[in-house]
Amino acid sequence: MQPIISVQGLGKTYGSGFEALKSVDLEIRKGEIFALLGPNGAGKTTLISVICGIVNPSSGRVLADGYDVVKDYRAARQKIGLVPQELAVNIFETVWSTVKFSRGLFGKKPDNAYLEQLLKDLSLWDKKNERIMALSGGMKRRVLIAKALAYEPAILFLDEPTAGVDVELRRDMWEMIRKLRESGVTIILTTHYIEEAEDMADRVGVIQRGEIILVEEKTELMQKFGRKQLTLQLTEPLSALPAELNPENLNLSDDGQQLTYTYDAQQDQAAIAQLLRQLAQRGIDYRDLHTSQSSLEDIFVSLVEERV
Ligand code: ATP
Repeated sequence: MQPIISVQGLGKTYGSGFEALKSVDLEIRKGEIFALLGPNGAGKTTLISVICGIVNPSSGRVLADGYDVVKDYRAARQKIGLVPQELAVNIFETVWSTVKFSRGLFGKKPDNAYLEQLLKDLSLWDKKNERIMALSGGMKRRVLIAKALAYEPAILFLDEPTAGVDVELRRDMWEMIRKLRESGVTIILTTHYIEEAEDMADRVGVIQRGEIILVEEKTELMQKFGRKQLTLQLTEPLSALPAELNPENLNLSDDGQQLTYTYDAQQDQAAIAQLLRQLAQRGIDYRDLHTSQSSLEDIFVSLVEERV
């Protein structure tokens, strides 16, 4: 499938000489939710800013729906809605004039019915005549989203959309993102809430020190790097692990009461069955057992730590 965004050999060195992006290649597929994860200062905002034409690249190029974001800025920019981290609106304007202006800016025909529905969906309709300065922080965030969606972009970037917002707004935002995806909009987001990426994203990219270190389907990532643990609460404490039990993946708690077996999420279940048989043969009994699986957060932390 033709990617909707194609990032090719993208480099960015700031005026200070700092190299924030180092030859980044990345393709975003039409209609997906792509989560870009990375530690602070990794280059997420820089990458988004270059794709959105706000920051000029030092090398390489970006195509958005086929348009070069530098050479064909207007055509590319029309395709992209950006919800930035920081407030980027005229606070003296009203909500209504902000969205109307945004729609016009990108050459879309006026469509008050669309804008009305948009503000209703974002619970902003009753605030339409308020000046932005008079709104709460959460409502200002909603205005940023309305502004980005006012011209019906095919691609929506959300930079840390739920940082510092209350639970209700987070829920509304995710609901809205799901609806947008259903309507065919491609969504790229950065987030520190990894559980959100785990919940929502189709694919995950990890950026570190200006380099994309991994791009993977989320489900494959969870399978490939995910670890599972089987924990047994023993009936009688053990003083030591029996040597024959392949102690490599086994751990006995200090009080001898709990036995933990760690294995790959992909590994077949035969090894577990064998372990349980071996325990039974040695008369090691357990009164409870449970399994757990690593989260995307565990995977992310271990990926990034590996490279420090
Ligand atoms: P965070 O998660 O903290 O928002 P990020 O991954 O979005 O971080 P960027 O904001 O892209 O990271 O910054 C990447 C690096 O580039 C940082 O070291 C930052 O200090 C540097 N940087 C960003 N903007 C500029 C600038 N205008 N001039 C010089 N250096 C910059």
